[in-house]
This record gives sequence, C-alpha cells and structure tokens, in this order.
Amino acid sequence: MRIRKIDLPDPQSAIRNPQSAIFMLGQVIELIEKHQRFAVTSHIRPDGDSMGSSLALCWILRGLKKEAEVVMCDHVPHAYSKLPGADEVRVAKDIDSSYDAVFVIECSDVSRPGLPSLKDRFVVNIDHHSTTELFGDLNWIDSTAAAVGEMIYNLAKAIGSKITPEISSCVYAALLTDTGSFHFSNTTERTFKIASELVRHGAQPAKLSQAIFYSYPYAKVLLVGAVLSTLERDESGRIAWITMTNDLMEKTGATEDDSDGIITYPLTIGDVEAVAFFRELPNSTYRISLRSKNRVNVARVAESFGGGGHANAAGFTIKADFESLSREVIEKLKEAVASAPAVNGREIKPR
Ligand code: 5GP
Ligand code: MN
Repeated sequence: MRIRKIDLPDPQSAIRNPQSAIFMLGQVIELIEKHQRFAVTSHIRPDGDSMGSSLALCWILRGLKKEAEVVMCDHVPHAYSKLPGADEVRVAKDIDSSYDAVFVIECSDVSRPGLPSLKDRFVVNIDHHSTTELFGDLNWIDSTAAAVGEMIYNLAKAIGSKITPEISSCVYAALLTDTGSFHFSNTTERTFKIASELVRHGAQPAKLSQAIFYSYPYAKVLLVGAVLSTLERDESGRIAWITMTNDLMEKTGATEDDSDGIITYPLTIGDVEAVAFFRELPNSTYRISLRSKNRVNVARVAESFGGGGHANAAGFTIKADFESLSREVIEKLKEAVASAPAVNGREIKPR
C-alpha cells in the first residue's frame, strides 16, 4: 500500500528536543511495520556517516523481510566501498515512485540528495543536525546523537532487529568517522558504550579502520602533499587555510573524493583554532569545508554562505570570485574565533 501524504497527522510536528526524537522514533517504527518497499538515500558526496547509516538501515529493513535498497546520486567513495552492501548501492540521478517511503539520511534540505523527484515522495527525514529543515513527511531529528548511525542503532534495538555483523560494521563506520576516530567533542560515554556493543555483535575495529583510513590510492597521498604545500595562516596563527585547484588534482591524478580528510592536517597545528579548505569545482564554483576546535562555531560561518553543519565541522558550496570569497571566509573565521567563549587553560581536567 502506497502511503498518502495525508495519512499522518501534523507531519511537521517535530520539535527539536530529545523528547520529541523519542516520539518520532515511534512514528518511524510504525511506518516500517505497516509498509513493505523502502529506499534509503543521503546527500551528494556521501561521507562515512551517510554511507554507514544508509547501509545499516537497509540491512535492518531487509532483516525485517522488507524490500529495501540504497539509492544515491553519487558513487560510493573508495573509503567506504568495503562496507557490507556498498557494492549493491544503486547510483541514480532521480528516484522513481515505486517505494512506499524514502528515508533521507543526514540531509539539511530536500535538494541535498540530488534526486529531484524526492519532493513528491513520502519522505522520512533522519538527521542529527539541529539546523536541518523539517522537509520530511516524518522528521526524526536528534541533535544529541554523535552520528545518525547512533540513531539507526537505536532504531534497530527499538524495532527488535537482530544486530548482525553487517549492521554492526556499518554503524561502527558511521560512529568512527563522524567522531573523527573518537577525537571530537561529540564523543561521549554513550559513543563508547554503543561501539562496545557493536564490537560484541561483529564489527571489527581494526579491519574497518584499515578499510577507511589505510587503503588510500597513491594519488591521494600525492594530493595531500600538494594541497598541504598551499597552507597559509593569518597573522595571529589561529586561522589556517588550504586550497585545492583543479590543476593540482590533474597533476596528481587524484579525484575530488581524494580530498576528503585533508582538512584535518592544518587543525593538528597547536595554535590553529579554525581551518578553511577551498576546493575548486568547474565554473568558478567552490566547495568550502570548515573545521574548528573548542567553542569556535563554524556552522554559523557556513550558514552565512548558504551552507550548514555542526559547530566544529561545516561546509558550503558557492559560485564566487576566489579572491573575494577567501577574504570574506577568513574574515568571518576571525570573527568566529574572536567571539568564541574562552577555554580555560590547556590542562585536561577529568570531568
Ligand atoms: P564536509 O566539510 O566534510 O563536506 O562537511 C562537514 C559538515 O558540513 C557535514 O556535517 C555536512 O553535512 C555539512 N555540510 C557540508 N557542505 C554543506 C552544504 O553545502 N550544506 C549544508 N547544509 N551542510 C553542509
Ligand atoms: Mn553525521
């Protein structure tokens, strides 16, 4: 039975707090139990959380004897190609009407998956970004989750799924990547508790880390060297930026996927608190990634350019003149660093 949009009362009722997230989880479970054919999708250029969470949800649905497939606008990046089910992902430029509902993972708005007809489908928006638009017919938003993977794991447990090695591996990949290998401030006791349960159910941490972080193509490491040689910083030494031109990609034989993760390097400098990574795309368009430490909020900077993300990791894509764009981004990063609440000293105190 196809779900009609009017079947559910007050579809935009999600309030952004955990109480409501629990209510919405119940609605998602009810929807799964009542229907049969599902698609799962996520944003263009999928990352570890979007790939891991989408694949995990697909495994959960199949385990419940539902028909399910992952449909993405872009191919699976090399780093995630060994995740269980990655080889079955369907790459398509639109989504047809043969599904009862489409789960949209980790997307700020309905256009992020790059599937134009999505707006006409019954959509379940699942995200952990507090800035997401409530574009779904159901909106399950939990900004307390370290990764959407954590939400998917909660769904698996709540719906009574058997937690298979496939589900465990995909959720682990989501948690591992969205917490920056358990380095970022979204890493909590709950993250480790879930990770521990996932390992018990068959996720293999060393194998997954090897596949994601130690299986780079040669060209990627050449690109890392070339991009890092563009490193610049402001007079305070607190803001750093790197640039990737199309020329650098051509010279090294790398692809845009290979640029993922390079932004971490400037952030390893002790004094650096905010980093911008400018990537040239065709037609004077630039993709900008932003990262920060401590209380410096780069999501606000990204939002001011039409993008979004988390306080410490955000991004946007814009058509602009590079010189003025970089100047403006760096100015806004300076403001973000200057207005960040101070972190007391460098001593690490136990909580
Ligand atoms: P990345 O720099 O790895 O591409 O993205 C970091 C974070 O910023 C992710 O949480 C991602 O969802 C968000 N982000 C990146 N680009 C965009 C964008 O164009 N729009 C929005 N809303 N979020 C973005
Ligand atoms: Mn995420």
